[in-house]
Amino acid sequence: MPVITLPDGSQKQFDEPVSVADVAAEIGPGLAKAALAGRVDGQLVDTAHVLENDINLAIVTGRDDEGLEIIRHSTAHLLAQAVQQLFPSAQVTIGPVIEDGFFYDFAFERAFTPEDLEVIEKQMTELVAQDLPVSREVMPRDAAIEYFKGIGEHYKAEIIADIPGDEEISLYRQGDWVDLCRGPHVPSTGALKAFKLTSVAGAYWRGDSSNAMLQRIYGTAWPDKKALKAYLKRLEEAEKRDHRRIGKDLDLFSLQEAAGGGLVFWHPKGARIRRVIEDFWRDRHVAAGYELLYTPHIALQSLWDTSGHTDFYRESMYKPMEEENQLYQLRPMNCPFHVLIYKHSLRSYRDLPMRWAELGTVYRHEMSGALHGLMRVRGFTQDDAHIFCREDQIADEILAILDLTLSILGAFGFREYSVALATRPDKAVGSDEIWEKATAALREALAAKGLDYSDDAGGGAFYGPKIDVKIRDAIGREWQCSTIQLDFNLPERFDMEYVAEDGARHRPIMIHRALLGSIERFFGILIEHYEGKFPTWLAPVQAVILNITDRQDDYAKQIEESLRNQGLRIESDLRNEKIGFKIRQHTLQWVPYLLVVGDREAESNTVAVRTRSGEDLGSMSIDDLARHLHADIASRGLNDLNTMED
Ligand SMILES: [Zn+2]
Ligand SMILES: [Zn+2]
Repeated sequence: MPVITLPDGSQKQFDEPVSVADVAAEIGPGLAKAALAGRVDGQLVDTAHVLENDINLAIVTGRDDEGLEIIRHSTAHLLAQAVQQLFPSAQVTIGPVIEDGFFYDFAFERAFTPEDLEVIEKQMTELVAQDLPVSREVMPRDAAIEYFKGIGEHYKAEIIADIPGDEEISLYRQGDWVDLCRGPHVPSTGALKAFKLTSVAGAYWRGDSSNAMLQRIYGTAWPDKKALKAYLKRLEEAEKRDHRRIGKDLDLFSLQEAAGGGLVFWHPKGARIRRVIEDFWRDRHVAAGYELLYTPHIALQSLWDTSGHTDFYRESMYKPMEEENQLYQLRPMNCPFHVLIYKHSLRSYRDLPMRWAELGTVYRHEMSGALHGLMRVRGFTQDDAHIFCREDQIADEILAILDLTLSILGAFGFREYSVALATRPDKAVGSDEIWEKATAALREALAAKGLDYSDDAGGGAFYGPKIDVKIRDAIGREWQCSTIQLDFNLPERFDMEYVAEDGARHRPIMIHRALLGSIERFFGILIEHYEGKFPTWLAPVQAVILNITDRQDDYAKQIEESLRNQGLRIESDLRNEKIGFKIRQHTLQWVPYLLVVGDREAESNTVAVRTRSGEDLGSMSIDDLARHLHADIASRGLNDLNTMED
């Protein structure tokens, strides 16, 4: 006779075992309809799951994150069922939930086309109309392997063979279609009301390029049509801003198949922007009391043994290379190098804090399937820094880092943040005392900056607590860029010391921090944030001079030289083309200023100034124009409301 305790503390008693669906019906008909699953003492179960004992139960609906996940996962099953009904030779593999949706990988003899997607989606809608019940069955492992082999599903059989022997194998059936799955699932296909298939792509089985190429279908699913519509609108907005397309249109960067995946080539215009970012970053760091370092890209593997990377980080590292009977490792991180410089001399308490920054390029192994434009790459430059300080300096240093972080991110046009403080996990190095002190220092600094933050309890690294800062871009997406991490571990591993006032040896505290994250990824975010319309201080070409006829060639060249000598990025377009054509072309390259010169301008020593948004600023003398450009550059475009719509 189970007693069911609901989240509000109320209890319901039943005379016999009941299903989650029965309990939902007992609470009310609305909930009975909305119920997708149950959470029983923290464990997710199907609505058909029978409750025999006294337990805590929450009814999960599409309004919960877990409910949304169940909808997406169930829609992936629906997709697979539809595909196999339409294309019986397609084999199923995996169909996980991803951000905003799901995908399913099929082994199929050809690539699916956009027309296929339409037909598949129609079939899915048909299966929803049939409102097929979704039911769970348990099967012994060997029987399950035999079953899937028997129906020609060799990938599924392989997946089951990899499941640990003591785990239960559950199958989900809807109509005459069956899939291996842990569940839970929606009670029937009728619960799936709002979905759309979005794209197809090739994907290797298990993400490994030596395996077979599968056909991946992506889709999205939501609790209702309204949420789906809002999402598709966001997606359209994001596609318009895709940094891979804009990067190509504006000739900023490329990824070269001939060189390997995930390696970025910066073209001249992208490189100009990178130089501005880096110069700005360096200047701000020097002003904030940092020293700049340069360290090698490879080092003996033994260094990475000392740092612990070969133990804990191996899967992200490239394999070592051998030279003169020694193993060298391409660096996945910069930290140990800065530690070596620290250890090069005996340090005194008076030397601390030491703030060392490096634009350090690192190489990390990523599965080829995970690579994505500039956002996920294999070689990238971290805007890294390490601060070595005493315990009593932590709070001041964190505050100074937060100041620098917000001022640098703000200069790039990001003024909305969400901040999280991650605290001690169960397994951790360092004494309770130092964890408490350090965490308190982080809280103190966040409070001093007046920053709202969420607590990520237990989410810190084993070596120390951290603050993560996400920025919000022009269309409301959040990007994790900055991280500030305390480290009680590396100083221990490398036996770092300083001589205290009393002459005794102490361990310094190490702070790792990156503000932009990586230059490559940050550049991708900037491209999408500004939709390629960079503010003048970042624009690869700040102004372009356009002549009306070749009579103004010399005058145009003279202005170009004069403005270039003032450090401005100016080009001239003296092609024998119609002025309207030239204006249109450079506007589409988002050059902030278009300077038109005809006979009248040449005679009066002026230029006719237009902006890329089509605004006519009238005619200006060269001096006035230069002043205008310098003022715009100095403002970093932060007065330009076009670029930040909240
Ligand atoms: Zn499933
Ligand atoms: Zn580090």
